[in-house]
Parts: sequence; structure tokens; C-alpha cells
Amino acid sequence: MRVAVVGGGAIGSACALFLRRLDTGVGVHVIEPDPGLRLASSARSAASIRQQFSTEVNVRLSQFGLQLLRDPDPWLAVDGDKVDLGFVESGYLFVAIRAAGAQALRENHAVQRACGAPVSLLTADALSHRVPWLRCDDVQLASLGEGGEGWFDGYALARALARKSRALGAVWHASPVVGFERRGERVRAARLADGARIEADVFVLAAGAWSRPVGALAGLDVPVFARRRTVFVFTCPQALPRTPLVIDPSGVWFRSEGHGFIGGWSPRRGDDDPDDLPLDQPDLAQFDERVWPALAHRVPAFAALRRTHAWDGYYEVHPADHNGLVGPHPHCANLLLACGFTGHGLQHAAGIGRGIAEWVVHGGWRSLDLSPLSPARIAAGRPLVERAVI
Ligand SMILES: Cc1cc2nc3c(=O)[nH]c(=O)nc-3n(C[C@H](O)[C@H](O)[C@H](O)COP(=O)(O)OP(=O)(O)OC[C@H]3O[C@@H](n4cnc5c(N)ncnc54)[C@H](O)[C@@H]3O)c2cc1C
Repeated sequence: MRVAVVGGGAIGSACALFLRRLDTGVGVHVIEPDPGLRLASSARSAASIRQQFSTEVNVRLSQFGLQLLRDPDPWLAVDGDKVDLGFVESGYLFVAIRAAGAQALRENHAVQRACGAPVSLLTADALSHRVPWLRCDDVQLASLGEGGEGWFDGYALARALARKSRALGAVWHASPVVGFERRGERVRAARLADGARIEADVFVLAAGAWSRPVGALAGLDVPVFARRRTVFVFTCPQALPRTPLVIDPSGVWFRSEGHGFIGGWSPRRGDDDPDDLPLDQPDLAQFDERVWPALAHRVPAFAALRRTHAWDGYYEVHPADHNGLVGPHPHCANLLLACGFTGHGLQHAAGIGRGIAEWVVHGGWRSLDLSPLSPARIAAGRPLVERAVI
């Protein structure tokens, strides 16, 4: 059996690693034109992990991601080197200021608790005792992770996954796919810019925000869109204890990072959110117009903050329901999609990689049922809407 993985960010690397780990008889090729991950989302992420999703499969994927972050060596160590992913355990805090938002938190909480996630719902009073530096007088309800959430070094995770996949025997190619050869409903080979031709029995499309144009090379529609998100780095003259990752109803989020903070804004339904904006041009006006006012409202000490720098990257948005597409493309049985994670793919990389490997080797999901993420759900009119999108 030969498998070609297109894209070598965290997701593609995890697929390669788990394929080789599960069955050393599977020949694995990873096609990644940018092995230093200069543009990859995996290297430009806020690299945080939460259990606070609205869909069970996402909570379960995070639980496996957490296992790997807490104890990476059994999965990622090469030649006995210890792996440091810089994991900081600290909760997420979702804030609701309206009845509808509070109701959504309650419904999400029921899903999370059913999966065993340690999450508490807090009234404004309880919240102001737990987080005294936060403005709470307009809060209806908040949801705080009490464990199993936090942040890590996303680049280190992607590099460690790639390194381990190589150590287990995956072969990497540093050239982009520029075409596919198809016969009927199957892909036979990928053609690379350097002239190489990679034949395989199964192809995995893990090209993140580039999955739509890469899928188009095989004549396939892959509804994943590159939407730029900017991360702002700032400091605050007033010392605050380490903050949770706070998600304000305005769409603004922030968390501690080292001695300072990072934060940003994600468009809400109806906001302008164009495709394919250029990278390395962070939207600095967004900070003054959207981010700072919301930060200063939620944390009075942030009125005096100082922005130091910013970076940007692509969310790989699957707009139909904001959840990943994992499994065979409906019109091409041997092209497995592993894309469209809409800003929560890094924490799920391990679980997606393990799932894809099990699908290829065993012909079905084993450790975790990923069928809710099947691409076929969209044509069947059964979207799996993730409400807790940041
Ligand atoms: C600002 C920001 C904040 C985020 N915060 C979080 C977070 O807190 N937690 C979380 O879990 N997720 C977060 N994400 C999302 C997360 O980073 C992504 O879901 C994840 O990194 C996707 O991994 P990937 O491997 O699919 O994509 P990528 O890392 O983008 O890798 C895709 C690869 O495909 C390659 N490729 C492109 N074209 C071709 C081609 N023609 N042939 C072969 N290969 C090709 C690219 O070179 C690229 O390296 C965030 C993303 C951003 C941008």
C-alpha cells in the first residue's frame, strides 16, 4: 500500500506519523513545498487547546490532543531526545452578555460535561470572584475550563510530528503538487513542480488553507477558504496574573503569552471576511478599531496597553458548518480530505492523523469515530455546525 500526503503542516505530518506507526508496510510520501513552514498555519497559530466545543467529536479530538501534549515523548521522541512542546495548562473563558449567548453556553456545557470535560458555568458574581481584573457587570454567564486546556508551541509540535514521521520512514518531497492524474473516480498519481511523479493507492489532502486550489488540480471541489487572521502582541503596564484564554462576545480574544499577551478578532456572521488576503501584511487598523476597544472594555487595565508587534496567518475555513472535512471526497474514493478545520486544527492534528491512518489501514474509524466529519455530510444536507468558533 502506498499513501501520498499532500501538505506537511501539523495535519499532514500527523497523518504520515500515524500511518507509519500503525503499519510499517505502508509506504508514505509527504509532499510539502515549504518544509520550514514559512506560510503554514501550523507555524502562525495561536496554538491553544480547549475542550469547550459544541460538538462531541471536537471535544474527543481535543482529549487525545491533550494526552499527547501532556506526555509527548511516547509519540514524538526520536532517538531518546526529550520533546518540549512548551505546554501551559490554563483554561479558556467564554463570556456571554446576552440571553442567547448564555443559552448557547449552557447547551455547549451539557455536551462537554457528557464527554467528561471539566468545565464550570459561572454567574457574573462568581466570575468576578474568580477573575477580579475582568469587567463582569454586563456578563450574563461565563464558561471556564478548569483543566485540560491551555497553549503550546505550535511550530514545535509541527516540527516534532514531521521529524518523527521521517524517523519512522516517511519520505518527504520539497516541491508543490502541480497536477493529478485521475482515472474515473480515482487519483492515480500526483505530479510535482520538480518533475517528480508520485503514484499511490491513497492520497490525503492536508494542504490547509490551500486545499481548495490543490483539490481543483484534481478537478474536485473542496470548499475550504483561506481567511486571514491577525494575532497582536501587547504588554500592559499593570501586572495581571496569568489570564485564561478569554473569548469576548465581540469576537475579540486574548490570553497571556510569556510576560505579555496576545489577542485578536475573528469576524462574526455578517462581517466582511474576504478570501486570500496577502500574508505578512497584518491588519494593524483592526487593532485600533476593533481589538483595543473591546479589550479595554473587558479588562480596564488594558486601556493602557501597548501593542508591540503582530503576525498573520490563514484560517482554513469550511463555511458550511465550521468543522473539518475528514474522509473520502464524495467524488473521488481514494482522495481522503483532512482539511477545513476553521481555526481549531492544530490541537486536533494528532487525532486526525491517527484517524486517517486507521481509515487507510483498517478501512474504518477505530480509536475515535470521525464519521461526523465525513465530507459526505454536506451533500447529504447534514452539516455538523460548530458553534464555538473563535
Ligand atoms: C492566527 C491563527 C490562530 C490559530 N489558533 C489556533 C489555536 O489556538 N488552536 C488550534 O488548534 N488551531 C489554531 N489555528 C488553526 C491551526 O493553525 C490550523 O488548523 C492548523 O495549523 C492546520 O494545519 P494544516 O497542517 O492543515 O495546515 P498548514 O499548517 O497550513 O499546512 C498546509 C501545508 O500545505 C502546503 N501546501 C500548499 N500548497 C501545496 C501544494 N500545491 N502541494 C503540496 N503542499 C502544499 C503548505 O506549504 C503548508 O505547509 C490558528 C490559525 C491561525 C492562522
